[in-house]
Amino acid sequence: MYVNLTDAFTVAGKVERISVPIEMDHFSCKYGEYKLTDKSPVALVLSNVGVGKARVQGQAEVTLGMNCDRCLKQVDQIIHLDFDQEVMAPDVAQPDPDDDDSFVDGYELNVEQLVNTEITVNLPTKVLCKADCKGICRQCGKDLNAGECKCDGFVPDPRLAAIKDIFYGNKEV
Ligand SMILES: [Zn+2]
Ligand SMILES: [Zn+2]
Repeated sequence: MYVNLTDAFTVAGKVERISVPIEMDHFSCKYGEYKLTDKSPVALVLSNVGVGKARVQGQAEVTLGMNCDRCLKQVDQIIHLDFDQEVMAPDVAQPDPDDDDSFVDGYELNVEQLVNTEITVNLPTKVLCKADCKGICRQCGKDLNAGECKCDGFVPDPRLAAIKDIFYGNKEV
């Protein structure tokens, strides 16, 4: 949704509070696509802070259906968005045409683009269903949180074997 910034850019002392619904149902980035399982509206405060200059503050909360890094179980990740930025009217500052992420389009604030950018910077780098998630067996694929599997779990690691050779080699000298 677009919000008009004309008053915030031009009316001295103007402070406008609005609530804007988030439209997106999915969030996509280079790591994948995640469903928004829950979302709040964006509570926006638009203030005039100078000629052609507006301050955009806002808060929202979205819940993304992500997957545990170890067992792939779906984990709902709540992400708090809290931003505070200054933006310029197009006749005060020329927008950078290479900036695809720009959330100001002329006199309009692109709230979806802003939310998208804020989710990107607040995306958790590690997702675990629980701190001690045991993951899945690399051999049979069983979820090890549900119990041990029948695999013997011994996977010879050639790097360890090489270290062992060096160790015993030194001892013999
Ligand atoms: Zn897990
Ligand atoms: Zn197994």
